[in-house]
Amino acid sequence: MTIFARAARIAALLALALTIVMPATELAQSAELAKNLFGSKELPAATQPQSFGFYSKGCFAGGVAIATDGPTWQAMRLSRNRRWGHPAMINLIERLSRDATADGWNGLLIGDISQPRGGPMMTGHASHQIGLDADIWFTQMPDRRLTASERENMSPRSLVNEKTHLVIDKFWTPAHERLLKRAASYSQVERILVNPGIKKKLCDTVTGDRAWLRKIRPFWGHDYHFHIRIGCQPGSPGCKRQETTAAGEGCDKSLAWWFTEEPWRPNKNPDAPKARDLMTMASLPKECRAVLQAPAPASEASVTVGPGVDAMAVSHAEATGATIPESTSVAAAPATSEPAMPESAPISAFAATPELGVPLPRPRP
Ligand SMILES: [Zn+2]
Repeated sequence: MTIFARAARIAALLALALTIVMPATELAQSAELAKNLFGSKELPAATQPQSFGFYSKGCFAGGVAIATDGPTWQAMRLSRNRRWGHPAMINLIERLSRDATADGWNGLLIGDISQPRGGPMMTGHASHQIGLDADIWFTQMPDRRLTASERENMSPRSLVNEKTHLVIDKFWTPAHERLLKRAASYSQVERILVNPGIKKKLCDTVTGDRAWLRKIRPFWGHDYHFHIRIGCQPGSPGCKRQETTAAGEGCDKSLAWWFTEEPWRPNKNPDAPKARDLMTMASLPKECRAVLQAPAPASEASVTVGPGVDAMAVSHAEATGATIPESTSVAAAPATSEPAMPESAPISAFAATPELGVPLPRPRP
C-alpha cells in the first residue's frame, strides 16, 4: 500500500468515525435524509406545541402521546412509536373515543398518528408529518385488552371489495356511518379520507343531514381505517393550510372518476422512490432543524396523555425554555413548492378530483 493510499484509507476511517460520533444536531445540517433523522427520535421536542410546514412536508414540536390504553380506546402497532401528535389532535382523538362509545361504537382502535417530532417516516405514510393526522380503524375495540403481539399482528378487515371497489355490504353497519359522521362533526376536522367505495356507500345511503359528506374525501387505501385531518392550530404561523374541500357533498362526477379504470392502473414505475424517501433536511422548513435539536421531555410518561387529561396542559407543562425560532417564509411558500405526485397518483389528497362525464355505478339495494 502506498503512503498515499494509506493516508486516504485513514482519512476514510476518520470520516466514518466522525459520522458515528457526530451528534444528530450536526448531521441535520447536512443533506442527510430527513426520514432517518426524524425516524430515529424516540421523544418529542419539549417546547410549546407548534407545527411547521405541510402535512406531507414538515415536522412539529411540543408533541404528546396518547396512552396505549384508555377506557374507550386501544392503540395499535405500538412498536412503530407513532402515537404522537399535536396536543389538539390527541385531545380530539380522546373526545372522539368517548363520543363514539356513546354512539354505540365499542371504543376506538387507534392506528398511526405521527412520530414524536413528526417528519417523514421510514415506511408508510406520505403525510402524518405535522402531528395533525390520525388513522382510526374501522374495527371496534374488543371488550378485552389486546396483547402487545395482537396489536402488532392483528390483521384488519377491509370493508371494500378490491375488484369492484364497492363496500362489502355484510361488513358495513350503521355504526360505521355514525362514527364517520361524529368525526366529521368537529369543527377542527377539515377532512376525512376513506376508500372511494366507502364514500360511495355514504353517498348512496345517508339520509337527513348530508352536509358532513363534504369533509369525507375518497382516496386510495383507507378500506380498513379512516384518516382524520385537523386544520393548522393557533400558535403555528409556520403551518401551511390545505386547500378547502370543494363545495357540495362530493357525490358527483368527482366521485365517478374513482370507478373508472384510470385510478387503478398498475404503477408503470413501481420502483421509483417516493417523495418521503428523497426528502432531505434542506427540503423541510428550516425550523425542523431546531425541532430535531430541541431538548426532550423528562420521560415518555411525562408527555403521555391518559383519559380525561388535557393534552394541551401536558404539552405546556413539559415545555422547557427552549424556543423554535420563527420564520415567516414557510407560511408564505407558494403551493407549487409541494413535491410532484408520482405518475401513479394523478391527484393528491389535497386537490380536487378530476370531473369526468361518466356515470356512477348504480347503488345496489
Ligand atoms: Zn393516514
